[in-house]
Amino acid sequence: QQVAESLKALNANIEGRKPHPRPVTRFDCIGLPEDLLQTVKGAGFDQPTPIQAVGWPAALSGRDMVGIAQTGSGKTLAYLLPGLIHIAEQPALLAGDGPIALVMAPTRELAMQIHSEVMRFTDGSRIRSTAVFGGVNRYSQASDLRRGVEILIATPGRLLDFLESGTTNLKRVTYLNLDEADRMLDMGFEPQIRKVVSQIRPDRQTLMWSATWPKEIQRLARDFCREETP
Ligand code: ADP
Ligand code: MG
Repeated sequence: QQVAESLKALNANIEGRKPHPRPVTRFDCIGLPEDLLQTVKGAGFDQPTPIQAVGWPAALSGRDMVGIAQTGSGKTLAYLLPGLIHIAEQPALLAGDGPIALVMAPTRELAMQIHSEVMRFTDGSRIRSTAVFGGVNRYSQASDLRRGVEILIATPGRLLDFLESGTTNLKRVTYLNLDEADRMLDMGFEPQIRKVVSQIRPDRQTLMWSATWPKEIQRLARDFCREETP
């Protein structure tokens, strides 16, 4: 009942197995470490956007999910903040050099934009991140990867290049995000996405983000996401 009222107020909807997580209306009730909470407050944001209000508790519960909301609605932070908490909880934080959180995005511009949001919220932390995408020289991207990252933002083609050359690997990935999933499919990246995802452990958490919910995305969600609560 409370969940229903809260969703109505947000003009949001949740589908899938119940119980549905209760939306959060404040930044300070999702368990962010104090320094991160200060960064979020410092960013001048008043309250979570609707996709954050429903996405955070879902993502933090460990469930796979598809977040659908229009462009500009704050989807990056919807997966980034739970991702930072996820990374902090990994005992493997110190071991290994491949990413723990992987974000796939369709274009270089988006990958760069996501990376700058990631840097803004990991500044001063031990979390390393980089973005890899096509259209530029591989060398500096490769050396960033070799140094090790916890968060990797990548376009599918360039990521496959680096996987095939052994520059990085996906053994540590437990938090997978497909950002702008609808655009990635529109751009014909489905085969590359499937190839990448097949290299990630099946007990990962998978989150997909999209502005639309066409049949093709539904099919991908069925293939990549698990219905049951972990
Ligand atoms: P989307 O991925 O849904 O298109 P973005 O994640 O790129 O949206 O966010 C759009 C803008 O909104 C960014 O500048 C981001 O910093 C800002 N933003 C994110 N969360 C909030 C919030 N809770 N309140 C206000 N602005 C926010
Ligand atoms: Mg986005």
